[in-house]
Amino acid sequence: MKLTGDERRHLAEVLRSRVGDRVIICPNDGKDYIYEITAFDKTAVTLDFVECVPNPTEPDLFLCAYIALLKGDKTELEVQKLTELGARRIVPFTSDRTVKGSEKSERLRRAAHEASKQCGRAIIPEVSEVKTFSDVISELGGYDSAVFAYEGAYGSGKRIGDVINGTEKRVALVIGPEGGFSEEEVNAAEKAGYEGVTLGKRILRAETAAIAGAAVIMQLCGEWK
Ligand code: SAH
Repeated sequence: MKLTGDERRHLAEVLRSRVGDRVIICPNDGKDYIYEITAFDKTAVTLDFVECVPNPTEPDLFLCAYIALLKGDKTELEVQKLTELGARRIVPFTSDRTVKGSEKSERLRRAAHEASKQCGRAIIPEVSEVKTFSDVISELGGYDSAVFAYEGAYGSGKRIGDVINGTEKRVALVIGPEGGFSEEEVNAAEKAGYEGVTLGKRILRAETAAIAGAAVIMQLCGEWK
């Protein structure tokens, strides 16, 4: 097999690999394909196949994170961290308080790809097209449990341990934008059967809420053994 372009450059110039080094190729099928470098030239790296082994990093839990678009690079940061934490699908969405003009699924896909490589995953989480809040609500029925993280839920609302029982195969986590969810959105979620869930006494930044929420769900579902 020959690798060209960015992959060649990454191996030769960034990682400074040499003939005889082994590399892992992941065609996104959950397996690691181990190759050995046999030659370099200006346009390509030549690799010989050695063996195929199951990749040990994938969680059994299918976690889908629904994340409201954030300003600047914050959505990419969320995608990077959710990928490291084992999310299998990421759905960016717009809502009443998201800032317009930040739709950019391509950049988010690149962030998921880079993070998967860095943390050794063999499956890159799927990053969907940008959806709306009502699309998000209508998808939640497809999960065993859904955590609708609402900053106003402390005191009266549910706790994450009330919603996740640990036997789920598919879980959804919904995180709002910097400005939080509007009253109409909270009502719509509740009407559909998703009461707001608190992530504790303090208001977290959206990216902190996404990271912390995903980590707690992984723990509650037995993924941090
Ligand atoms: N501007 C809002 C906070 C929004 S925080 C305010 O001041 O009230 C952004 C998102 O992170 C929220 O929509 C929610 O999904 C999540 N979040 C942050 N802190 C939370 C908490 N303590 N409990 C539940 N969700 C939280």
